[in-house]
Amino acid sequence: MTVDEQGWDQSYEATARIVDARSDPDDRQVEAALRPRRLDDFPGQTRVRDQLGLVLRAAKGRGTPPDHVLLSGPPGLGKTTLAMIVASELEQPIRITSGPAIQHAGDLASVLSSLAEGEVLFLDEIHRMSRAAEEMLYLAMEDFRVDVIIGKGPGATAIPLELPPFTVVGATTRAGLLPAPLRDRFGFTGHLDFYDPSDLVTILHRSARLLGLDADEDGIVEISVRSRGTPRIANRLLRRVRDWAQVHGEDRVTQAAARQALELFDVDERGLDRLDRAVLDALCRRFGGGPVGLSTLAVAVGEEPDTVETVAEPFLVREGFMVRTPRGRAASALAWQHLGLTAPLDAQGLWGATLPLEEGTNGRFET
Ligand code: ADP
Repeated sequence: MTVDEQGWDQSYEATARIVDARSDPDDRQVEAALRPRRLDDFPGQTRVRDQLGLVLRAAKGRGTPPDHVLLSGPPGLGKTTLAMIVASELEQPIRITSGPAIQHAGDLASVLSSLAEGEVLFLDEIHRMSRAAEEMLYLAMEDFRVDVIIGKGPGATAIPLELPPFTVVGATTRAGLLPAPLRDRFGFTGHLDFYDPSDLVTILHRSARLLGLDADEDGIVEISVRSRGTPRIANRLLRRVRDWAQVHGEDRVTQAAARQALELFDVDERGLDRLDRAVLDALCRRFGGGPVGLSTLAVAVGEEPDTVETVAEPFLVREGFMVRTPRGRAASALAWQHLGLTAPLDAQGLWGATLPLEEGTNGRFET
């Protein structure tokens, strides 16, 4: 089903609200307003953007829904935004749900059976779906069919239900946790990496314009290098700098305002936030630089292992502060230096001179 421009626009607004309900309430509206709606407005991630653009154009030309799309990468890099762009480029409505919301196969069956032809189904945190739902999803993605089970026990019967063709866009911070049969059902997989500061500069200029802010180039650059390569963080920091400037009677975002505001919000000059520094601090001071297991490290900083692994760790590894080794996480020489500490001699030799194990995968790890 193709909805007319106005119908699609209303669907976009409705889904934008659902998606942004996940973040802080006061961030919601601004995040929705800052989301690019077209691939051409989406800076950075050039490879994924070009590949996805080709897949969508070809499908549109054929008049059929494109292959299912899997997007992986750390939080805040644009997976949800790209899913919404897929729907908007195809001029189709989008239905949004997430793995944790689908705990029973029946939950998925009711979503699938109400999809219209060509609709985009966005499944966020797809790795957190129940096993039974995953199995139902393979079948639905491959054969556009679900087996609805009627009754229980030996008398239960499966009634096949045909579905109209649709496109699943799955998003995950942990692609390695997806079972191979599910991963194989996605015809296109895009891995989103941290953004270069120059891409964040483009994103920040656009956001400043949309928020009606005057911003100096120096101010924008200062925010970009402290945003952990992540657009969501860049946009949030921009708003904090705006607050700082406003309260101090300044009418623009300057470098000095950015420095002072970000210091106030515990973002250091490398972009590390409080959690990042807590992780490095625990690694160096409590565990002598490691290696230490993920759960022990997480307990030491009072966080869930999943948060340490998906939120803090990817950036710390990518920036060379932390090393993942077969025996656990270890601090690099850079981490000691950043905290103003002297690394013990064995740590200097061990993790200072060797390349991180993940070097071959560009700092990515998916298990
Ligand atoms: P994820 O789903 O990967 O956690 P989102 O798609 O929700 O990330 O993006 C977080 C925020 O960052 C969104 O509000 C969006 O405005 C912004 N954003 C993400 N990627 C880009 C980009 N390439 N250009 C501009 N803004 C972006």
